[in-house]
Amino acid sequence: MNCQKCTDMLTEYIEGILPKEQRQALEAHLETCPPCRAEMAQLKDLTDRLTTNAKQIRKTSLENKVINQILQKQSLKLKISPAQKSLLKSMRLLNWLNVLLKKILTSL
Ligand SMILES: [Zn+2]
Repeated sequence: MNCQKCTDMLTEYIEGILPKEQRQALEAHLETCPPCRAEMAQLKDLTDRLTTNAKQIRKTSLENKVINQILQKQSLKLKISPAQKSLLKSMRLLNWLNVLLKKILTSL
């Protein structure tokens, strides 16, 4: 396990879909690697904020097709840290957040 692999698997780990072996390898790496632990904490924090935002959006009963636009506007108001901004630059992460948001909205 190296930091690149660890970072690549973080979203799946948080979502709980990582296979057991990879999960254990990732947890072992996180224990020995403070930078990856910090990234993990930031990603979780960001996920929590977006979940809260999604619930607020849901309450207003807006149509799904405008949710992406709203999410973008909401994200600008999140006061996210520079590290989180760099994470958001990853299209892979943005795609994952979209998937996560849709899951949240359909599960409410
Ligand atoms: Zn690492």
